[in-house]
Amino acid sequence: MITLALSKGRIFDETLPLLEQAGVRPLENPETSRKLIIGTSRAEVRLIIVRASDTPTYVQYGAADLGIAGKDVLLEHGGAGLYQPLDLRIAACRMMVAVPQGFDYARAVRQGARLRVATKYLQTAREHFGAKGVHVDLIKLYGSMELAPLVGLADAIVDLVSTGSTLRANNLVAVEEILPVSARLIVNQAALKLKRGAIQPLLDAFVRAVDENG
Ligand code: ADP
Ligand code: MG
Repeated sequence: MITLALSKGRIFDETLPLLEQAGVRPLENPETSRKLIIGTSRAEVRLIIVRASDTPTYVQYGAADLGIAGKDVLLEHGGAGLYQPLDLRIAACRMMVAVPQGFDYARAVRQGARLRVATKYLQTAREHFGAKGVHVDLIKLYGSMELAPLVGLADAIVDLVSTGSTLRANNLVAVEEILPVSARLIVNQAALKLKRGAIQPLLDAFVRAVDENG
């Protein structure tokens, strides 16, 4: 049995066509089913449905053989025990620094101001501002970072941006890109050795599917 860990929403939706090209069709829709373990059209492949930020943990400990996780999540996790063979080029967005309209971020940085930054990406934010020599107090949030500057919790946020419409709706502007983000295939290193025969064809199918999608 091969177990693939996926999160609902964007990752699942954008993975479906790749799975289809690999000949794997889920037997249930995780958006409507309450099941957390979902069989597929291939008896030897099952899906487990996990929170996006938990995906690397399931794969690291071998509870899942493979998983699909955003680069954002992988950087926070650290990648221990994970083989990351493939950028699937799905769920693409950018990790950005954003501030309220009218806040002069460049000037604050030039003046060496100490900034309060709200984010769920503590590791990545710490590394980014550290490398730039910007002094920050990081405030850990678990969601809706956009709210923080509007109510005085923070001067700035670090969040994922795709269209920018959430930022605009909350009078925020992106002022700095930290890194481009997309979802990656991750594989448990031990599972790859022990179950190479079963896992490799799936890896190859993912590689082909990504290539074919340009
Ligand atoms: P959660 O709310 O549990 O963090 P999401 O479905 O919002 O889960 O995000 C799952 C993954 O999708 C993220 O880790 C990231 O890699 C990607 N992602 C998040 N926001 C966006 C976005 N605006 N555009 C594209 N991909 C995104
Ligand atoms: Mg979200």
